[in-house]
Amino acid sequence: MSFSEFDLIERFFSGHANRDDVVIGVGDDAAVLNVPTGQQLVVTTDTLIEGVHFPIETSAEHIGYKSLAVSLSDLAAMGAEPAWATLSLAIPAYDEAWLTGFSHGFLELAKTHNVALVGGDTVSGPLSITVQLHGLVPDGQAIRRDGASKGDLVYVTGTLGDAGLALAGLQNRLNLDPVILKRLRQRLDCPTPRIEAGLALRGLASACIDVSDGLLSDLGHITNKSGVGADIILEQLPLSVDTEQYIANSGDWNIALVAGDDYELCFTAPANNKIESLLKSLGCTCIGKITQQAKIRCFHTDGSLYESGKTGFDHFAV
Ligand code: ADP
Ligand code: MG
Repeated sequence: MSFSEFDLIERFFSGHANRDDVVIGVGDDAAVLNVPTGQQLVVTTDTLIEGVHFPIETSAEHIGYKSLAVSLSDLAAMGAEPAWATLSLAIPAYDEAWLTGFSHGFLELAKTHNVALVGGDTVSGPLSITVQLHGLVPDGQAIRRDGASKGDLVYVTGTLGDAGLALAGLQNRLNLDPVILKRLRQRLDCPTPRIEAGLALRGLASACIDVSDGLLSDLGHITNKSGVGADIILEQLPLSVDTEQYIANSGDWNIALVAGDDYELCFTAPANNKIESLLKSLGCTCIGKITQQAKIRCFHTDGSLYESGKTGFDHFAV
């Protein structure tokens, strides 16, 4: 390893492993971690590429934040408690200001969720960030995609469509008021990982996924794996004021149905009192129900069918 690579790791990425279960963190050939008895390790990895997962002009701090947030969102969807991260970073050149911003965005979010940065790799190359995140669940309690049954209700956290609307504005596919775009952009650059909701849903949700590629696509993973379908009521979709206004003007529900990057949780649960009160405190909205037919249908409240005609984001779609 060259001195500057060592210096860079030492300066920006070591000393952030403040958990009792970290035996060895950054600085050896590999990390050593204690997995508590009675818990299962839940592992996820995500790569972020400039221009694909974030617009080229995104600030270093927001790139750092988002590169961990998307993995936290995966653990939230499993009902796992985040614990340890590794960070594999390819950067075109040593850029102190960029590294300062990036590490700050990453490490502040890590601290918020008690995540220790225990290792990684640092190389030169076109900007690319890969995070592996490890979390814990009590044995057998991970929330899977394949547990939805007919009659379960379908819920989402937060609001849908804001990130997609921001991206459409940034890419000049839509002409948005700059004040509105700035507000929406916060949701694109800094999605809130729904860890608290994921933990609370253990033992209550029958299936769960995070909405990264669009509601129809991601709910479709739940229905496919579970061998069921779903009926969604469009007017029940939770929307921010800005997205609601956009849909009222355009009639384009697809911004909430197929645009990705919201990182909200979509989950199913049998209706009961216990879940009702929890859902209010978590800010969840019921958007429909699980059916027996193997497809997802979207209805207006007057019973008319809405044909989306689109699916969610797919890197390899032609
Ligand atoms: P090796 O060559 O043995 O793979 P490295 O020289 O790549 O080790 O890394 C030295 C130490 O620094 C290791 O503990 C590694 O996990 C850690 N590390 C390297 N890059 C990063 C990074 N971007 N963030 C956190 N830890 C890192
Ligand atoms: Mg190395």
